[in-house]
Amino acid sequence: MDYTVENGHLIWDGCDTVELAKEYGTPLYVFSQTMIEERLQELQRDFVDKYENVRVAYASKAFSTLAMMKIIEKQGFCLEVLSDGELHTAIQAGFPAEKIEINGNNKSLAEVEMAIEHGVGRIIVDSLHEVDLISSLAQEKGKTIQVLFRITPEVNVATHSFISTGQKDSKFGIPINEEILFPLVKKAIQAKGIEFLGFHFHVGSQLFENEAHLGAVDIALDLMKEVRTRFDYAVSELNFGGGYGVQYTDKDVRQPYSYFLDPMMERVLNFCEREGFTQPAVVIEPGRSIVAEAGISLHTIGAIKELPEIRKYVSIDGGMTDNIRPGLYDAEYTGILANKADQAPIETVTVSGKACESTDILVKDLKLPAVESGDIFATFSTGAYGYSMASNYNKLAIPAVVLVKEGQSNLIVKRQSLEQMIENEVLPDYLK
Ligand SMILES: *Cc1c(COP(=O)(O)O)cnc(C)c1O
Repeated sequence: MDYTVENGHLIWDGCDTVELAKEYGTPLYVFSQTMIEERLQELQRDFVDKYENVRVAYASKAFSTLAMMKIIEKQGFCLEVLSDGELHTAIQAGFPAEKIEINGNNKSLAEVEMAIEHGVGRIIVDSLHEVDLISSLAQEKGKTIQVLFRITPEVNVATHSFISTGQKDSKFGIPINEEILFPLVKKAIQAKGIEFLGFHFHVGSQLFENEAHLGAVDIALDLMKEVRTRFDYAVSELNFGGGYGVQYTDKDVRQPYSYFLDPMMERVLNFCEREGFTQPAVVIEPGRSIVAEAGISLHTIGAIKELPEIRKYVSIDGGMTDNIRPGLYDAEYTGILANKADQAPIETVTVSGKACESTDILVKDLKLPAVESGDIFATFSTGAYGYSMASNYNKLAIPAVVLVKEGQSNLIVKRQSLEQMIENEVLPDYLK
């Protein structure tokens, strides 16, 4: 992990994390704006400036707050949202609606209405009934909505045939299936209130190899050709989703964006030249890779329990409620003592959370300097899917979030108060 140390303290984007813990309390999420911007600039340089007619839409579920929306907007990028809440956050941040696309395998009627009313740029259709729904709502409001179809590209990867021989078991996307997909494309091309642009896929997340992306690009390109052959219709946009992996521990080696994007674009450009297509717009939706490594979490160590010959548990003042990924899918993290950042590790401990779940273990078997109650534990790479998956389990408060840049810190989410945790609760009269 890349970090700097001053006076024995972990420094994050110029800020002393021990001071941040004192000023804002713990648990605390700390995001480096500089690191977020470096990723955005990498995308700008190696994708947006390098290729024509391409766009980046930040997948906001990774970390969706007003301040984050502003950082994305300032870079000129687009935004991908999945729910009314994410759309609301973006709109409240003043994000231009035409630069927002909405995804989701089960958009509610209210969400589709909200999207159309705000005038979002794209609706990514993910289920069969959506075409009719969007068409009728758009007509009611006198609008034309641009749509893409999310496909499940794993289908028939080996054969490249569109005749379904078995669909990948997925809740996402429209199966690439003769009876389902093409009639729906035809319907979307003809439907009033809808402009059918093309296809979308998202192959997965935290990927370090580009095979899945490349295979899916080939399928999307074949579909583009199929649509021209069958309907004499030009697909004008393809969306290749996100999924680019990041470093959580020293075992992970993050690939630069170009490792994925250059061969993807090469396939698009070669295909278009060979088949006589104008290059469609190409959109990508990175989420995790923009924010994960820029974010750390700070916790204060409390109880320390030594089980001789077994293990030593050091407990933090948070855990699965602010980072559920270890409990949810055995995600691995690493961290250091922020107040002893210059000391050599001398003992092996297991960092555990304070929630009532035995899976609430943040890091197993981590080497740290001599741990004492009151030390500040910093977990690296918690910027994506940490805050956004935080819960009130055990009625623990959602932590505050601080944005730091070159030595300046600003609170961007206040710590939830005890009052706020019960403010929506209602006590019926008969129970009073
Ligand atoms: C989650 C998601 C993304 C972002 O994935 P990352 O792994 O965070 O880059 C992009 N597009 C869609 C449709 C998603 O569901």
